[in-house]
Amino acid sequence: MDDAHHHQFGKIPIPGSHVFALTDLSYAFVNLKPVVPGHVLVSPRRVVKRFAELTPQEVTDLWHLAQRVGSAVEAHFGAGSLTLAIQDGPLAGQTVPHVHVHVLPRKAGDFPKNDEVYDAIDRESEQYVKATPPAPAPGAGAGSGSGSGAVAGEKLDLDAERVVRSHDDMAAEAAALRALLQAAAA
Ligand code: AMP
Repeated sequence: MDDAHHHQFGKIPIPGSHVFALTDLSYAFVNLKPVVPGHVLVSPRRVVKRFAELTPQEVTDLWHLAQRVGSAVEAHFGAGSLTLAIQDGPLAGQTVPHVHVHVLPRKAGDFPKNDEVYDAIDRESEQYVKATPPAPAPGAGAGSGSGSGAVAGEKLDLDAERVVRSHDDMAAEAAALRALLQAAAA
């Protein structure tokens, strides 16, 4: 999966190097602005806005891939649980009009209140809309960071916590996850 090929995420081209799992109907890719380390996305390959528009085969494939991806990121990021979420439509907070499952590895104390994870997913998207970064160019560096590093008992500063990651950071994470998923399937 190199940058000669990309997958469409709404109108956003996702470079092949950021994709770490591919099935006939779905793909998994790393997040530009993860809210916790290992926050990744799983989408149908077909550009479909709403969950209800997916075929039964796409639903099955999407959730099966999300299940495999969840196991991989939970282990890789040393987590003990997962949050899986879809913001299905703009009124639910969806900013990219292409179905995607958010998969987030969860750790004790990662958010002061557990359900603040949903605020974080929502806020992150608002921030993304306000300041859409240019499409990543292969090899271009644009800062680094790995998402939230919340300390138990601290209120999250959602704006300060999030950093748009560089193309190379994202490609490196995708390479590690790709190897894990391939090993799990072998
Ligand atoms: P939502 O608000 O549910 O539509 O979520 C959109 C998700 O897409 C957020 O997690 C964003 O960080 C993520 N995102 C936006 N642009 C990109 C991109 N170019 N590459 C990877 N993830 C992206």
